[in-house]
Order: sequence, then structure tokens, then C-alpha cells
Amino acid sequence: MSQNLDFVNQNITKACEKAGRGAEDVTLIAVSKTKPVSMLKEAYKHGCRAFGENKVQELVEKYEEMPKDIQWHMIGHLQRNKVKYVVGKAALIHSVDTLKLAEEISREAVKKQTEVSILIEVNIAGEESKYGVAMAETEKLVREAALLPGIHIKGLMTIAPYVEEPEENRQYFALLRQLSVDIKQKNIDNVNMNVLSMGMTGDYMVAIEEGATYVRVGTGIFGERQYPAQRE
Ligand SMILES: *Cc1c(COP(=O)(O)O)cnc(C)c1O
Repeated sequence: MSQNLDFVNQNITKACEKAGRGAEDVTLIAVSKTKPVSMLKEAYKHGCRAFGENKVQELVEKYEEMPKDIQWHMIGHLQRNKVKYVVGKAALIHSVDTLKLAEEISREAVKKQTEVSILIEVNIAGEESKYGVAMAETEKLVREAALLPGIHIKGLMTIAPYVEEPEENRQYFALLRQLSVDIKQKNIDNVNMNVLSMGMTGDYMVAIEEGATYVRVGTGIFGERQYPAQRE
């Protein structure tokens, strides 16, 4: 696995060079869902400090078992009744796609007297099977969520379509970036568009070329997961 990590890190460096960006612009999130803590510990030893999980319970369990200098990223669909378990543990919630969910996170943040950083998840390709707010509705959701206490919008996230050829997703990464630039120009209070969470094992290099600041890589680090491929 340490070889996989080296390989992914080298690819990130290459993609940054190609795009004329500094390697420190891009953070690798090791997506450790379904993988045992022993594997996370190995990745940690190899320098990983950002891990991504898509299930609340798994994130919480691993949070308890792993060192405390880790940033946990909640990247999966989040149900409102589980918000209370991740607030205070996740450094960033990537998957906010409704005002109701943002309101719940806000309520919990206020209750715990903390601040929560969130991304707005955009269904950039308009796929029916995917979570995420529609592109045309994104600014509205950003404006509404920005008014809530206890939460801070840091940027946008997307899960691009499943494709054989990563180049096919370049258009969607470019669209998400453009959307974030457009929103940034509106100078909305409490909204910062510095984060673009996009790119997975199959397409993270293209995503970096199009401006990703977080790439979420699971299979490329930890190997195949033991369940049928699921993209959301
Ligand atoms: C599982 C998952 C990933 C990682 O997928 P890989 O193809 O294994 O790299 C990234 N983002 C999200 C939201 C995921 O659920």
C-alpha cells in the first residue's frame, strides 16, 4: 500500500506541474471506507493525515481508534438524524446539498458551540442517480446556507460520472470550477470558494489540471473494496 501512496502522490505532483500549480495546492484525501483500521494506520505512518469516509458510524469508530491529528472528511450522503454524530469530529462535510441539511448542521454547531466547515455538493452532470444540488440551484443554496450561524461554506464538491476515459470528465471539472468562480465573484458574506473537492481514483489527475484542491482517492491507495461498485 505504501507503494500505491507513493504512486498517487507522484501523480499529484505531475498533474500540478502540468497545470503550473504548486503541489501544496492539492490535498490528498485517503478514502478509507470499508477498510480496516490497520490499513488506515499504515497510511498514517506513510504520512496521510486526511481520511475520507462516507458512513457516519464508520467515521466515528475510526475517529476514536486513530491518532487525533487527523482531518476527517465526511464525503458521503448525510442523513439529518446523523448530523449530531459528525459535528465536532469531521473537519469538513463535503456533501451538503439541501437547505434542510445545512440547517440541521447549523443547529448542531450552535448547540455544541462550535463552527463547522462545509462544501456544497453539486450534481454537475445532472445524473438522476446522484445526490447533489443542480447546477442552476447552487447559488441559491449557497446564499441561503451562508446566512446560518455556526457553519462556513468553503467551496464546492462533485462526484463526476463513472467513465472509462478520465478525459470525458474534464468538461464537468471545468464546469464546477467555473461555477465556483462565478459564485466567488458575487462576494457573498460567509462564503469562501477556495475549496474544490473533485477527482477520484479514475480521474484525479484531470481534476487537478482543472483546479481541484482536494482529491478523494480510495481504490488507488487501498485497493478494490469488497462490494459491488457504488458511486454514491
Ligand atoms: C468512494 C468514494 C471516493 C473514492 O473512490 P475511488 O474510486 O475508490 O477512488 C471518492 N469520493 C466519494 C464521495 C466516494 O464515496
